[in-house]
Amino acid sequence: MPQVEPDQRRSARVGARSGRGGGVPRLFDAVLLDRDGTLIEDVPYNGDPQRVRPMPGARAALDALRAAGLRLAVVTNQSGLAKGLFTEAQLGLVHARVEQLLGPFDAWLVCPHDDEDRCDCRKPAPKLIHAAARRLGTTPQRCVLIGDIGRDVTAALAAGAQAVLVPTPVTRSAETSAAPWVAEDLATAVAEILRRQTAIAPPADRPTAPSVAPPSPVAVGTVSPPPVGAGPTRSSRPGGGTGTVLVVRSDSAGDVVVTGPGIRAVAAHARRVVLLCGPRGRAAADLLPGVDTVVVHQLPWIDPVPAPVTGPDIAVLTATLAAINADEAIIFTSYHQSPLPLALLLRTVGVERISAISDDYPGSLLDVRHRVPVGVPEPERALSLAAAAGYPLPPDDEPALRLRPVPPPPARAGVPGYVVLHPGSAAQSRGLPPDLAADIVRTLVEAGHRVVVTGGPDEVALTAQVAGGIAVDLGGGTELADLAAIVAGAAAVIVGNTGPAHLAAAYGVPVVSLFAPTVPFGQWGPWRVPTVRLGDPDAPCRGTRAATCPVPGHPCLSGIRPGEVLTALTLLGVAPTRPPMLAEAATLAGSGR
Ligand SMILES: [Zn+2]
Repeated sequence: MPQVEPDQRRSARVGARSGRGGGVPRLFDAVLLDRDGTLIEDVPYNGDPQRVRPMPGARAALDALRAAGLRLAVVTNQSGLAKGLFTEAQLGLVHARVEQLLGPFDAWLVCPHDDEDRCDCRKPAPKLIHAAARRLGTTPQRCVLIGDIGRDVTAALAAGAQAVLVPTPVTRSAETSAAPWVAEDLATAVAEILRRQTAIAPPADRPTAPSVAPPSPVAVGTVSPPPVGAGPTRSSRPGGGTGTVLVVRSDSAGDVVVTGPGIRAVAAHARRVVLLCGPRGRAAADLLPGVDTVVVHQLPWIDPVPAPVTGPDIAVLTATLAAINADEAIIFTSYHQSPLPLALLLRTVGVERISAISDDYPGSLLDVRHRVPVGVPEPERALSLAAAAGYPLPPDDEPALRLRPVPPPPARAGVPGYVVLHPGSAAQSRGLPPDLAADIVRTLVEAGHRVVVTGGPDEVALTAQVAGGIAVDLGGGTELADLAAIVAGAAAVIVGNTGPAHLAAAYGVPVVSLFAPTVPFGQWGPWRVPTVRLGDPDAPCRGTRAATCPVPGHPCLSGIRPGEVLTALTLLGVAPTRPPMLAEAATLAGSGR
């Protein structure tokens, strides 16, 4: 749904010292822990406190979390209660023994049911995660769960929390492959949680928002028209802070959207933010809060279909960079992209301070050379670079993807509550097989869901085939803002690893992610929004970065059964809006008759 956009910069300045977390941005307020196989050895249906054995290193790991101010809850399935294998009193004694050995927990959340009870709290259902977050006074998005099997991870992601899998010998390898984040033991998981939390805070040894000379009044490039419902224009913002900061994120709309939190962090402290993006990212750039000016130029060392490098083109780019007259530049990249060619050009036009992530040795091209381990979500990667450059996200700005408010969806989409299915992708390897997408539409419509199929101007034939006369076909739209409006009005979005997944995350709309494993799910999956991942995480395309599926039959996605999508929607709490119907009736309903 469209959301209110506060004057982020104003609130950032006011709130910087009074916000949540004592002035330091926080990814996580709480850590949720599975019990058996995670905190203590898995003794099946144990009702005997004497048989409680902590997992190695558990006490020290939990104490490190407590010392960092994180709240702790246990979320555990105990079907032994339903089976009558132990009593609640015995369970209470076991939990008392756990606390004796491992220290206190702020909450215990127990599902007492068995699978046959079909309750809504047994993991992988997300209810315990929601309940734990509520009990701890926070939201699932600010929680990270540690567990040892796929049910734990699924429950956490379906609630919008993050999840770390710590495999044990009972963990199936497919569960490990599908997890967004894997650690070898509890201590390693905790160390990485604390590292990620710290990485978005400013380095202790440098002041934030360094004060530099007032900005030049020169403005170049294309000035974005203020979108509908946009925040205040620059002239209404308070002064102070750093002058003009050039932020850079080339490549597609999705890349620009996931960089948004990092750019907001810069905008909270800078007087003026100029975003340099590529032509395919332009429409997303116009939706980003905090950007004053958008400048478009394709960077041939980043673009997947690069134009040749020519002297005249580089001369135009160099002149554009010079005219921006930036006081400093922050070059955001994905982990396989190099910031260094652009850093060189920025140096030649006299930009004095340049920050970027670079594993390659940058020599004197960078002032802040930041490093990030592989596997960190792209938005966190951007936030940590901004923080390293001295621009932490203000504590009152929730670490989440966010875009400017959009108008209500078009009337053709129907009233909100519909489910969007977006079958295409710029990269074929990440799009849905058309036959599968059509089968999913049929299954959802027959179950009583209203389905809207979306696609770009070159996907008209695809969306018509997938909609099949029983779903609303909104294929052919050209404007990203229109797609954003349709997504924002949806109850859920079913999509591959492509731009609309990030649009959904930005508007808080749950995602059924049909994720081709060509890139890591933990890095590119929908961030901090309720998500269910489907597809084969071990398909041969795993890790290939392929744009075109290298395997006949597109097996990573073609094996998905439409019923799995229905189940995923149920996990996400998205119910059909009308009773189940036969396909013929669905055809009439879908065609509006
Ligand atoms: Zn239950």
